[in-house]
Order: sequence, then structure tokens, then C-alpha cells
Amino acid sequence: MSDCIFCKIVAGEIPSARVYEDDEVLAFHDIHPFARVHVLIIPKAHVASLADCAPDHQALLGRMLLLAPRLAKEQGLDAGFKTLVNTGRGGGQEVFHLHIHVFGGGDPVRRT
Ligand code: 5GP
Ligand code: ZN
Repeated sequence: MSDCIFCKIVAGEIPSARVYEDDEVLAFHDIHPFARVHVLIIPKAHVASLADCAPDHQALLGRMLLLAPRLAKEQGLDAGFKTLVNTGRGGGQEVFHLHIHVFGGGDPVRRT
């Protein structure tokens, strides 16, 4: 998707502070963190949202979710962390490339 900000991050056309990368998944710090630690886990391939996932995406989704506790620990969130997947405009999604927010520490703002 040529106009997708996160595809551009995957391609390295927009810089990001990367914390994890493998063949299918990338994770980087959110540019506007709402907690001391706030990273985004995204698939490298463009998928617009959780609502656009199909059974084919099951392994990818599992890989992304299993990364959350690992990255949280690496970022020092020993006491726990939050995960959030905004889906669709009504769900507060602003970037239409699937992502899992992983955040915690400090005084996180509750987003519902
Ligand atoms: P959403 O509301 O779609 O769930 O969240 C999108 C998130 O992407 C927001 O928290 C926003 O700060 C983050 N974001 C948007 N553009 C960029 C960018 O260019 N770089 C990084 N690192 N984060 C971004
Ligand atoms: Zn994309």
C-alpha cells in the first residue's frame, strides 16, 4: 500500500525506533507515547485491521501477540503492561495497518 504510513516504516522510507524485527513482524516505539513505554507491533505485510484478518492470519496474529510480553519485559515493564488493538473508525483506529499497542509504566492514559 503506497500511501500507508506503516508500510513506509516497514520499507524504511519513514524512520522509526525499531525494537524488534523478523521476517513477518516489526515493532517500534510509538511516535506519541501515552505511557513511559509504548511500542507498536505490526505485520510487515499490509493488513488494514483486525477486522480484515482471515484464518490465514492465525499464525501471524499469534506471533504478534506472543511478542507483546517479550517486548514489555525487554522494555522494563516487569509489573505488567496493557495491550490495545483499535479496530475501525468506531474503534478509534487512525492508522489502517494492523497494529498492537503495548504500553505501560508511568501513568498511562486509559483509552477506551
Ligand atoms: P491507532 O489509533 O490507529 O490505534 O494508533 C496509531 C498509532 O500510530 C498512534 O498511537 C500514533 O501515535 C502512531 N503513529 C502514527 N504515525 C506514526 C509514525 O509515523 N511513527 C510512529 N512511530 N508512530 C506513529
Ligand atoms: Zn500498510
